[in-house]
Amino acid sequence: MALSDYQRDMEGCSRCSSCKWVPFNQIKSWRFAKNCPSICRYNFHAYSGSGRMIIGLSLLTGRSELNDNVAEIVYKCQLCGACDTACKVYRDDIDLTEVLLELRAHCVEQGFLMVEHMAMIDALKREDNVLGEPKAKRGEWAEGLPLKDINRERCEVLFHAGCRYSYDPDLRGTVRGAALLLLEAGLDVGIAGAEESCCGGRAYELGYRGEAENYAEDLLSRVKASGARILVTPCADGYAHFRYLYPRMGKELPCEILHMTQLLDRLVREGRLRFREQFPLLFTYHDPCHLGRMGEPYLGDWKGDKLQRPMSLKRAGRKGVYEAPRNLIQALPGAGLVEMERIREYSWCCGAGGGVHEAFPEFSSWTARERVEEALATGAEALATACPWCVRVLRDASREMRAELPVYDLVDLALQAAGIAEKERV
Ligand code: SF4
Ligand code: SF4
Repeated sequence: MALSDYQRDMEGCSRCSSCKWVPFNQIKSWRFAKNCPSICRYNFHAYSGSGRMIIGLSLLTGRSELNDNVAEIVYKCQLCGACDTACKVYRDDIDLTEVLLELRAHCVEQGFLMVEHMAMIDALKREDNVLGEPKAKRGEWAEGLPLKDINRERCEVLFHAGCRYSYDPDLRGTVRGAALLLLEAGLDVGIAGAEESCCGGRAYELGYRGEAENYAEDLLSRVKASGARILVTPCADGYAHFRYLYPRMGKELPCEILHMTQLLDRLVREGRLRFREQFPLLFTYHDPCHLGRMGEPYLGDWKGDKLQRPMSLKRAGRKGVYEAPRNLIQALPGAGLVEMERIREYSWCCGAGGGVHEAFPEFSSWTARERVEEALATGAEALATACPWCVRVLRDASREMRAELPVYDLVDLALQAAGIAEKERV
């Protein structure tokens, strides 16, 4: 696809500005009524979803040219999809996220690149991960665990750790814990270890499409060779790309694709995993964009007039993963759940997505602080989430704000509840 494929979408924007707000019937207070971190932070129409539609159309029709300022506006967006979801509530025929992605690819083609993104892509090409860590160390997190090596053996469940879980020392215990929980439930689990690569989704979001296709091809061949019936990942980004981007690129994975919270929820409901330890805490839950609205599976192409597109093919975030993480919190003995104002497909972003964390760290942490404030307003004693990128930035924001709000990965909570945390974790 190219920017020109979305001309009708861009022309369809009526500048109603609904994409800047949580849909009006979902708003609970003025304080948390806005949905787009970019327009909220920079307060100028160009930074909204609509503003970027106008930029795209103007570039496409030759009324303006790309320059550094315009490219910066394009990149100061988390690709969280909140504008897209809000617009679909009112207009339902405009695919904003696709235009935002095409704008990035256009910037890359025209040579308007962010230095920080180029460093990520260089690291990806060199080491097959976006953090620039040595490829040879990718599987070190699993040392000593009785997991199968899918480079030599077949398995029932293929566990894909993802880039951040594989290397972030602060999350090492969490990723080991995820594998331990699957083993505790008696599953036959394999990993690719040092041969695991990035899912490629981040490269796609930054506008580098060739890299994303190569990684999809790589994983497709690994899944086939492993014979895995289930591919599970604790990374929300990876999950979204496996469920949406891969089939859209024609690289459908021949197995069930689950996020770790979905598999844990299933194992608890089937009685294969038991939560025993008490958790007398009131939690609130942050929906990661890539697990929620952006985690909606690929619904298929529609070739006809967009205005005639059936509801079942509109990507409006409704089929994201919302229940499993909440079920897990409610299954923790003694724990309670109180919701924030912006939740599910109308959730506020954590700030880490779309390369913003790397290129505009101040904007990223401002966005995360907004979310921590919203969590604090609920009166919750702890914040739980289900994505390593969200955990990273929300934990940092909570510390920066000196907020008394610990941020938990749901895997850590499940581990402690199952009573296998202390004896097994690193
Ligand atoms: S909600 Fe949709 S139609 Fe309205 S301004 Fe935003 S992009 Fe345009
Ligand atoms: S994707 Fe998110 S940050 Fe970007 S314009 Fe839409 S709502 Fe704003």
